Amino acid sequence: MHRVNLNPISFNQQVFEHASFGIVLISPDGLVLTVNPAFERIFGYTQQEIDGTRFGDLSHPDEEIKTLHDIRELMGPANLEIQLEKRYIKKNGDVLWGWLSVKLFTDDSGNPLYYIAQIIDISKQKESEQKLQETVERYTSLKKYNHDAVISFGLDGRIINGNSMAEKLTGYTIETELIGMELANLIGQSNVDRILAKALYDSTIEQGIDTLVTKDGETVEVITSIAPIFVNRKNIGFYLICKDISEQKRLLLAKEAAESTNKAKSEFLAMMSHEIRTPMNGVIGMTDILLETTNLDDEQRSYLEVIRKSGDTLLNIINDILDLTKIEAGRVELQEETFDLRECIKECFSIVSPRADLKRLELSCTINHDVPDYVYGDVERLKQVLLNLLGNAVKFTPEGSVSVKASLSKEDPSVLAFTVSDTGIGIDPGRLAEIFEPFAQIDNFMTRKHEGTGLGLAISSKIVTMMGGKIYAESDGESGSSFTFTIPLKVMAKPQAQESRDDQTMRQGNILLAEDNPINQLVMTKMLEKWGHRVTPVLNGQEVIEAVRGGHYDLIFMDLHMPVLNGLEAARAIKEEHGENSPRIIAVTANALKGDREKCLAAGMDEYVSKPVQREAILQLLNRYLN
Ligand code: ADP
Repeated sequence: MHRVNLNPISFNQQVFEHASFGIVLISPDGLVLTVNPAFERIFGYTQQEIDGTRFGDLSHPDEEIKTLHDIRELMGPANLEIQLEKRYIKKNGDVLWGWLSVKLFTDDSGNPLYYIAQIIDISKQKESEQKLQETVERYTSLKKYNHDAVISFGLDGRIINGNSMAEKLTGYTIETELIGMELANLIGQSNVDRILAKALYDSTIEQGIDTLVTKDGETVEVITSIAPIFVNRKNIGFYLICKDISEQKRLLLAKEAAESTNKAKSEFLAMMSHEIRTPMNGVIGMTDILLETTNLDDEQRSYLEVIRKSGDTLLNIINDILDLTKIEAGRVELQEETFDLRECIKECFSIVSPRADLKRLELSCTINHDVPDYVYGDVERLKQVLLNLLGNAVKFTPEGSVSVKASLSKEDPSVLAFTVSDTGIGIDPGRLAEIFEPFAQIDNFMTRKHEGTGLGLAISSKIVTMMGGKIYAESDGESGSSFTFTIPLKVMAKPQAQESRDDQTMRQGNILLAEDNPINQLVMTKMLEKWGHRVTPVLNGQEVIEAVRGGHYDLIFMDLHMPVLNGLEAARAIKEEHGENSPRIIAVTANALKGDREKCLAAGMDEYVSKPVQREAILQLLNRYLN
């Protein structure tokens, strides 16, 4: 028990005045009697301001231990000295972390005289402690929530710790099995030896570690990295970070399988469409021929026109499916040549303008002056995209206008940008991306007012991508839509003017028609005969060779797939036998696939058309080769 002077202020006056920590003298009922100068400095209050307040008034409101009464409870009957960390509020409102110790002084008979409280300002230490804590927490959660297994191990090759992914990956529980275990159990002794010997100097050390053995003895494929752990600049061990890639591999395999299924589907569809196209050839061709006969009454003519129109629609659908599946199967190549861009746009306009006129829509076109006249590219595919966008614009616009704008892109002048805008029904902005998917149509299938397959935009988007460009749609859902696509520009000098062709001077030709399908044969024969040519039909390549030996022919239309001897073999044989004097040979094929054209030309053929043969295409060829 201390013996103390009854006058507290004179007690240890030196210490009281010069201490670097705050000292408070408290009466047994909790009143502040006096504070020392250090206390005034630390808290920012003067002696006068403090005198007479109650001990605990400066405590932070969140603190549980505030008043002398609280402290007394802690001291208990033995009046123990109390020491604790707690927060206070300074005069300027700042929080102060203090180390408080309170001691009771009594007289000889044990009655309380006063309490002395010492408060040391530990705010600085607390701040750095908190920073450290935050770093530790951040770093711990980095480990804890990592999708990779993180295992630390010491220079003795024993595991120090692991995160929950490590537990999941290895099958060992962290606390009871993993900690203290030899890392060699997981990755093999030689790998552990290698890491311990070289990891600090060799950053490729982790390359050899691509499997990990689990508790069940299973081998898991992983990608690993090794990182050294430094404490006070001393390497005390390493982190082994492992990513389980077996799941990724499984996904990759599944993706490959799905892709090949998709490809098989595309091939099947391409083949099916081909099988449908051949009989369609007969339906449309024969209807055309019938329509050209004169002695039809009005009723018969109107029936025939219905057949013709339905045939056309059906063929369009089949062509779209075939086109899309061929592009998807990677079996389409761009046919690039130099062409007149303004002419190309004009042709598209002339095709859609009758439909626009019927709806009294205003059609307009702006081509910026900086757009070159001649560009290099696949003109037919460009037309296909433009026609599709223009066709949609006209189809989905009840009144108003449709316009096309061509210009060089503002961001990149080596890119051509086309925009087709309309004042039509617009597209729900939330569904703008969806319409480029195959078979996407905004209005319900059962209630739709507009014709179409929902394939046009899917095909257009595939073509634009093939050409190296982008396509996108914009609409606010009410006042029309606009579609923009870009293609990289390939500028060309103007080509030599081609010889002008004159339909009137076409002479009568002697034509050999090699085609084994009787319907196709009948359609072509009737069409050619109508234009006044002599036609000799044959059924296979061998018969072609014999016919050419026996007579003079100007032109051969040769199917590629024929029995006995196919078209390519027959063409080769004829060119070999007759050289310069061979008739011109035009390949006719139902399934225009990538590389077919090259194969035909290599076999000595002059041109290549695809089925179902179009009247116009055949007329053009006759004009070219019979003049
Ligand atoms: P289709 O026109 O044959 O239905 P598309 O692939 O060309 O197929 O278009 C898909 C859908 O996108 C259309 O059915 C229509 O709902 C919407 N669409 C396309 N162009 C326009 C447009 N200019 N205005 C409004 N809707 C459009």
